[in-house]
Amino acid sequence: MNNKVRLPWFGLDIGGSLVKLVYFEPCSSQLNCKGQEKVGLEAIQDFIKSNIHYGEEGRRDENLAMEHVMLGNREGHLHFIRFPTDAVDTFLIVAKEMNASVLNNKVCATGGGAFKFEKDFREVLGVQLLKYDELECLVHGIHFINAHGVDECFYWNNLHCLEKSVKVSYDFHNDAYPYIVVNIGSGVSILLVESGEKFSRISGTSLGGGTFLGLCCLLTNCASFEEALSMAEEGDSTKVDKLVRDIYGGDYTKFGLPGDSIASSFGKMTSEENRSSVSDKDLARAMLVTITNNIGSIARMCAVNHKVERVVFVGNFLRGNTIAMKLLAFAMDYWSKGTMKALFLKHEGYFGASGALLELMT
Ligand code: ADP
Repeated sequence: MNNKVRLPWFGLDIGGSLVKLVYFEPCSSQLNCKGQEKVGLEAIQDFIKSNIHYGEEGRRDENLAMEHVMLGNREGHLHFIRFPTDAVDTFLIVAKEMNASVLNNKVCATGGGAFKFEKDFREVLGVQLLKYDELECLVHGIHFINAHGVDECFYWNNLHCLEKSVKVSYDFHNDAYPYIVVNIGSGVSILLVESGEKFSRISGTSLGGGTFLGLCCLLTNCASFEEALSMAEEGDSTKVDKLVRDIYGGDYTKFGLPGDSIASSFGKMTSEENRSSVSDKDLARAMLVTITNNIGSIARMCAVNHKVERVVFVGNFLRGNTIAMKLLAFAMDYWSKGTMKALFLKHEGYFGASGALLELMT
C-alpha cells in the first residue's frame, strides 16, 4: 500500500441519485505534516466533524462512523457523507471556498458521475478525478468494510411473523464465498462474487430505487425519499394490488400459491371504484412492495441459476427501509423453501465510495 499519498484522503461515488463521500480522518498522532498543511487539514476536518448537516440536503451518517481503522500504515476514523447528485455544483462551490484542492488535487472517484462531472471538478476546483469502475469499487468496499466493521452484516429473523422480526448479526467475513450482491441504487446491478478478485455482473434491472421514488412522486406528490417511505409505512398495498384470493376466492392450491400472495401488482387500479378509495399512502406502499418484490424475484432466480445460497442486498434504496428489507428476507426464504438467505450490510450505500478510497492506497 502506498502511504505517501498526501492527505486529506477521500473516496467519492457519484451516483444517479446521490453522491457518497467517505473521509478518512487520521488520528492526530499519525499526522506527520506541519505548518500550512496541518492548518488546512484541520480546517477540512473541523468542517466535516462539526456538522452533520451540510446545506439543505447534505448529511453525515454519524451512526456509521468507524473508529480506529487502518488504511495503508495510518490509523484513523472513517466518516460517511451523502448529498443529492443534483447538488454537485453547490458542493464544488463550497469545496472551492474552503480551498480544498490545495492539499491534495487528486481524488479517487467512481460511479457514472465521475465521468459526467470530471470536467467540472477540474475547472471549478482544480481537482483531478481518478476514475475507477463502480462494481470493482463496490466489491472491494464490501470486503474492506466487512473486515474492519463491527456487526456489519445482519439478517432478519422470525420471518413467519414480520412484526416480530429483528436484526441478527451474521459472521460474513469468515464464510463469504460465493455470494450474490444486489446493489439497489437508482437502478439495480446484480453481481456474482466468487472470491475477493473474481466477480461478474450477472443481471440487473432498471426498476430500482429511482423508479420507486420517481413513481411515488408522480402518484402521490411526495417530495423526498423519507416522505415516500413514511407514507408507505402507513399504507395498505392490498387495496391496490390484485391478490390471488381476489381472483380465486382463496388459495390457488394446485400450485401452492396462498390467497394473500400478489397476483397482479396495481391490478385493482383498473377499476374506477377502487381508484377512488385508495389513499396516497396505499399507493406509496404498493409502489414499494412492487419494486421490492420484483428485485427479490430477479435476485432469487440469479441465486438459483448460479447455485448460490447467500444474497447480500446493499444500496441506498434500503436506507431506513425496514419494509423492503423484511420483504426481501421473507421472499428469499419463502420461495426458496428456506435454502437461501438474504443478508444486509450496515453501510448499505457507501461501499462504492469506500472502494474508491482504497484505490488511493494502491
Ligand atoms: P446511486 O448510486 O444510483 O445514486 P444509491 O445507492 O445512492 O444509488 O441509491 C439511490 C436510491 O436511494 C434512490 O433511488 C432512492 O430510492 C434511495 N434514497 C435513499 N435516500 C435518498 C435521498 N436522501 N434522496 C434520494 N434518494 C434516496
